[in-house]
Amino acid sequence: MKFVSTRKGSEPVNASTAIIQGLAPDGGLYVPASFPSLSNLNIHEISSYPELAFEVLAPFFKDDPLAADLAEICMDAFNFPVPLVSLKPEQMVLELFHGPTAAFKDFGARFLAFSMERMLKREGRTLTILVATSGDTGGAVAAAFANRENITVKVLFPKGRVSKRQQAQLTCWGGNIQAYEVDGNFDDCQKMVKAAFMDPKLSKEHNLSSANSINLGRLLPQAIYYVYASHLFSQATGKKPTFIIPSGNVGNSCAAYWALTMGAPIEKIVLSVNKNTTIVDYLKSGTYQGRSSLATLANAMDVGDPSNMERLLSLYPDFETMKKMVSAYSVDDKTIEETIKEVYEETGYVLCPHTATGERVRRDHFADEPTIVVSTAHPAKFEQVVEPLLGITVEVPQKLAELLEKPTSFTSIGCDHRLLFV
Ligand SMILES: *Cc1c(COP(=O)(O)O)cnc(C)c1O
Repeated sequence: MKFVSTRKGSEPVNASTAIIQGLAPDGGLYVPASFPSLSNLNIHEISSYPELAFEVLAPFFKDDPLAADLAEICMDAFNFPVPLVSLKPEQMVLELFHGPTAAFKDFGARFLAFSMERMLKREGRTLTILVATSGDTGGAVAAAFANRENITVKVLFPKGRVSKRQQAQLTCWGGNIQAYEVDGNFDDCQKMVKAAFMDPKLSKEHNLSSANSINLGRLLPQAIYYVYASHLFSQATGKKPTFIIPSGNVGNSCAAYWALTMGAPIEKIVLSVNKNTTIVDYLKSGTYQGRSSLATLANAMDVGDPSNMERLLSLYPDFETMKKMVSAYSVDDKTIEETIKEVYEETGYVLCPHTATGERVRRDHFADEPTIVVSTAHPAKFEQVVEPLLGITVEVPQKLAELLEKPTSFTSIGCDHRLLFV
């Protein structure tokens, strides 16, 4: 299977190459040249999530150097539960927060880490990954790459702008994970990463790469849980579910569209966003206008110019088709708070602020339809929002609690990328 750039200016490559490169040489994002069909997949014969993962991903890795390792990578990467929980009949929540850092980004980050480690060891090469984080991504990437051989990770976070628990998840690793507290904001961190990539000497000397959500190795594994949950749902109810997905950079929802394209039993895909309404506005006007991001309670979705939009546009280049396939609704902070309260009082279920946007969209627009709201994070990660609202203490999942207990260390630096390499 080959992967092509959304900008059509680069040679098609295999999955391994796309994963190691991150971005295509023409600046575009890698997408599958074609989509395999799931019709040969006998879901009844599949006994575990890692086995399903292997079956779904195998066609993408056909004739790839990683093909022989794929089954083992899936076993290693997806070693935690993926529960589909019922709130009401035919109204379910897909809990993607049972990985080490309690957010869905563990799926992509772990698959990427285990894939890269295998490739690098085989080739006897080393790699340095730079990742700028506003909170969640850095934690998932650090956890996934900790102790992976032949890889060093440098995580940059803005001083005083990440939550206490987020900071603990960035700084508790040591070994091959180096954390940098940057005296600046998230944009400064991102600029430093870009500057390092643009520095030919550094880039060559340290073999720099990235692990953000434009990497194909983070996106492909996210398609698996849509295949998994849609089959479980339709086996249980005889109906195809509509997925409602809390979205920011649109990586998670793009993977859902890929699952739909492969033939997973999905009725419809709906995006919920916070006050960053770029996509909602685009679907109304037909003109895409990226902008700077606004801060909200669902901060992992604070994206004003979603990078994976480019992949959605390549899937549905015609605006009428795009409008038919993609719908999006915005939920403001006050409504996020009200929804967390309403759902807790009604059902006893505690939502994180991101998942609350999805549940609101279900209640307002799809109340009578078979639906799955995708839960992107555990509420204990956002205890500062959730606990005062509900007047309760949210229990921290054990894996996360273990991380929070570890000693931490980081280096404080100014906004100069060269300081990352001294
Ligand atoms: C990253 C993230 C999102 C947004 O996902 P995208 O793939 O960027 O659309 C939503 N919720 C949580 C908790 C996240 O960490």
